[in-house]
Amino acid sequence: MKHLFALFIALMFSTFIPAQAPADLVLVNGKIRTVNDKQPEVEAVAVLGNRIAAVGSTEEIRKWVGENTKVIDLQGKRVTPGFNDSHAHFLDGGLGLASVQLRDAQTPEEFRDRIRDFAAKSPKGRWILNGNWDHEKWARPLLPTRRLIDSVTPDNPVFINRLDGHMCLANSLALKLAGVTRETPDPPGGTIVRDSNGEPTGVLKDAAMNYVYKVIPKPSEEVMAEAIRAAMRYAAENGVTSVQDMSASPDVFAVYQKLLANGELNVRIYGLQPLSEWERLARAGVRAGFGNDKLKIGGLKGFADGSLGSTTALFFEPYLDDPKTSGLPSDEMFPESKMLNNILGADRAGLQIAVHAIGDKANKTILDMFAEVEKQNGPRDRRLRIEHAQHLRPEEIKRFGAGRVIASMQPYHAIDDGRWAENRIGPDRAKGTYAFRSLLDAGATLAFGSDWFVAPMEPMMGIYAAVTRRTLDGKRPRGWVPEQKITVAEAVRAYTLGSAYASFDERAKGSIEVGKLADLAALSADIFNIDPVEIERTKVVMTILDGKVIYERK
Ligand SMILES: [Zn+2]
Repeated sequence: MKHLFALFIALMFSTFIPAQAPADLVLVNGKIRTVNDKQPEVEAVAVLGNRIAAVGSTEEIRKWVGENTKVIDLQGKRVTPGFNDSHAHFLDGGLGLASVQLRDAQTPEEFRDRIRDFAAKSPKGRWILNGNWDHEKWARPLLPTRRLIDSVTPDNPVFINRLDGHMCLANSLALKLAGVTRETPDPPGGTIVRDSNGEPTGVLKDAAMNYVYKVIPKPSEEVMAEAIRAAMRYAAENGVTSVQDMSASPDVFAVYQKLLANGELNVRIYGLQPLSEWERLARAGVRAGFGNDKLKIGGLKGFADGSLGSTTALFFEPYLDDPKTSGLPSDEMFPESKMLNNILGADRAGLQIAVHAIGDKANKTILDMFAEVEKQNGPRDRRLRIEHAQHLRPEEIKRFGAGRVIASMQPYHAIDDGRWAENRIGPDRAKGTYAFRSLLDAGATLAFGSDWFVAPMEPMMGIYAAVTRRTLDGKRPRGWVPEQKITVAEAVRAYTLGSAYASFDERAKGSIEVGKLADLAALSADIFNIDPVEIERTKVVMTILDGKVIYERK
């Protein structure tokens, strides 16, 4: 009661009068970027319970200190709102932390040896999953095959994904368990990669992966909870206090609820479920934004196409390095009317829709469907989202602003794909790739995230990428498509308030303002005033969630 009353006073008088009750937590002597345009920079913050009670100068905020107030002297450190990752695959990321690590395997031999070592430690019969390999890192970027790994994995089925999640490599044992043979047809929206004799090489793309996914035993609830605990530790280490989980299927959501009930959930989760299953949520009466500050539901995620790395992103023009194809619509788009009907129905039910679209044609198709939703279902604050919005023609960029479609983007992909994307799409299409600057100029809302497990869930890397666009191979020191760079302030806003807007949460979080949730990140360097190249090495040194320190860097 005391806290509520003090908060009420604080809300009424903001920073103008001294507190009636002492704060629980006070941070002083900081450089605090609030992401509130009315008061962008302050030195100090007072927190009551889990809410921000006051912001201002150190002198003003010291008045909130009482006998039991925890006082943190920031010693000039830069503080931002806690980061909100608008696109992550949280369980997969957590499971990946516990599996074989292939992301930085530099050669096929190293790839094979790491799998061999991991298999040697694994119980017989246990599936080896995740991995996040990237053949684009190899001197000759040929897809790996099952022949490469069969001899080192005789007793374990293997189904390891490329880091974009749009293809997997199976060993022969896994293909056998799944019943995939040379006779198996390519499913709609998927490809079984075959050698010159028509034999499956082990690589399955997009919908073809389901042949194997179907036979992989589900992880137990305890294994999932362990993975999410690991994921939460990783989030906290990176100042991430909110996560929008694109893969919060019912069993994952059940684990979140259990962690919440146990008081263990120390990241805010917005869980999106598959768009194709929207009727389940609609029937239960769930609407966008249902839940509480910690756990929310009511969003749906669909797929329009695949990925650039897997040559399945859907373009108007063919791939330059594979002119037979211009990509592949996802199985949810066979036929396109199926996707449109799902979007219309889910929107009518009051749910929020987010659709993965990478190629320019996929983006255009979904923007058309979103326009149809506005037309058929009438105007409302629906906050339609396109996830990735990766390759855009100028005419589509304008539509994000005019149609108020949120561009939910992951800047790290730009410096990763930038190493090789131009071989695939050429310099003209590259101009509209990760078009942060043009999207902001068109009046679009950017929400930033990582796409973890696909990329590291590290906002500092994301901000560095959006601001410098320096590719990971160091070959573009001035940035890849440099005209699409944005400022540090714009990137931080997209990673906080922009993401909060994308989940209908901008009144509760996303900036450091009186009355909002007390989620904060303190950094090892002042990213607003250093050479942007240094942001890559900047670390989160403290993370605060609900007014409590949940991570401190040793
Ligand atoms: Zn994703």
